[in-house]
Amino acid sequence: MDIKIHLKEKDIPRKWYNLAADLPTPLLPPLGPDGKPIGPEMLAPVFPMNLIEQEVSTKRWIDIPEEVLDILYRWRPAPLRRAVYLEKFLKTPARIYYKDESTSPPGSHKPNTAVPQAWYNKQFGIKRLITETGAGQWGSALAFACQIIGLECKVFMVRISFDQKPFRKLMMQVWGANCVASPSNETNAGRKILAEMPNTPGSLGIAISEAIEQTVTDPAGKTRYALGSVLNHVMLHQTIIGLEAKKQLKLAGEKNVDIVIGCAGGGSNFAGLSFPFVTDKINGANIKIMPIEPTSCPTMTRGPFSYDFGDTACTTPLLAMYTLGHSFIPAPIHAGGLRYHGMAPLVCQAIVEGLLEPKAYPQTKCYQAALTWAKTEGFICAPETSHAIAATIDEAIKAREEGKEKVILFSYSGHGLMDLSGYDAFMSGKLTDYELPEEDLKKFTAPLKSFPKAEAKKTGKW
Ligand SMILES: *Cc1c(COP(=O)(O)O)cnc(C)c1O
Repeated sequence: MDIKIHLKEKDIPRKWYNLAADLPTPLLPPLGPDGKPIGPEMLAPVFPMNLIEQEVSTKRWIDIPEEVLDILYRWRPAPLRRAVYLEKFLKTPARIYYKDESTSPPGSHKPNTAVPQAWYNKQFGIKRLITETGAGQWGSALAFACQIIGLECKVFMVRISFDQKPFRKLMMQVWGANCVASPSNETNAGRKILAEMPNTPGSLGIAISEAIEQTVTDPAGKTRYALGSVLNHVMLHQTIIGLEAKKQLKLAGEKNVDIVIGCAGGGSNFAGLSFPFVTDKINGANIKIMPIEPTSCPTMTRGPFSYDFGDTACTTPLLAMYTLGHSFIPAPIHAGGLRYHGMAPLVCQAIVEGLLEPKAYPQTKCYQAALTWAKTEGFICAPETSHAIAATIDEAIKAREEGKEKVILFSYSGHGLMDLSGYDAFMSGKLTDYELPEEDLKKFTAPLKSFPKAEAKKTGKW
């Protein structure tokens, strides 16, 4: 039996899968400041039109351009691995597979969308991309993609990560990007927050506001913004993960998968792995599909389904999603990529339909799982990824207790070699768990009541 399942390069998927084509209930449209659905032209100052077309598309399959594939071949198809050592340690009859996205140059799944985003912008005549980054994974992925494709890259990095993760900033610089801490003095949004809260750890919402402001104020109009998660076109690009995994499971001799798991910050690695399986579930397959989030940022498990802004300064359109409120500032947990207040609308609509079973984990349990992983499988995972591992371990133990041979597939979204300070804090007993207090949840979500109501439509089939 092989424990590494490789696809040949010629077998790489040549189309992305668009869940919007198959959701039993359609997505609610993004709304503009007047509360009316926005047209594609309203996004034009922020994104190039070729990506906006993907954002609003309901076509089931979208061709991956040959030139994009040529870059993805540097590390794709990514390996599917069987976690036999963890299985043995847990004495579980479950077969655990993980899709290893840590093998890309920046070490996560994020270049799967950074590369096509940079490529479509270049095609559209754009010269510079601006973005924000939490843990630095997205910033480094976009810096890498811009370097390969030939665009300038500017990154607003959330303050706490800028201080905690200096090596990610250096990676961005190696790939030629300009990285500044957010909130910064370079934008009105940043200056305003700094005046109110000079010691703020920052947040993704604030950094997004800064990136968008600097994008739309470029007098030459040759700058666009890039987002590493949440939006439909990002979920689309990431589906290459699940499409590869499906072929690989078949090669491994698996006919079915019982459980699919991924950690979810904005939802992209989870969506990328799971959406091709969500279709199977829509068509009758019995699969438990679980997005995992931290208890300190419990968007899917405790947030209301509502229209909300994607950023703190209220510059984005209103998106229908589970949200903790756009002014939410999460506790400074080490999984920086899971500290976002909202969630991808496509993931949220699938939750509303009952197709997904979200679950929240506290960070110490996740670090414990990360150590178990390192001691059995050997690899050191990203703090975000540890949430998926913690849930996988729980499901594998449940399979043991039930005496069932379940097939579990999870997304190994990235390695943790740049995140060892979090491991240090955990091993020296300095980490505590944060449960979002009910009063804070009420406070941050109170402003949502004044927004247009997002109707939670479902067929009731799941
Ligand atoms: C960014 C990141 C995440 C969270 O982002 P999603 O869009 O939810 O995937 C998870 N894992 C790693 C390693 C990341 O870099």
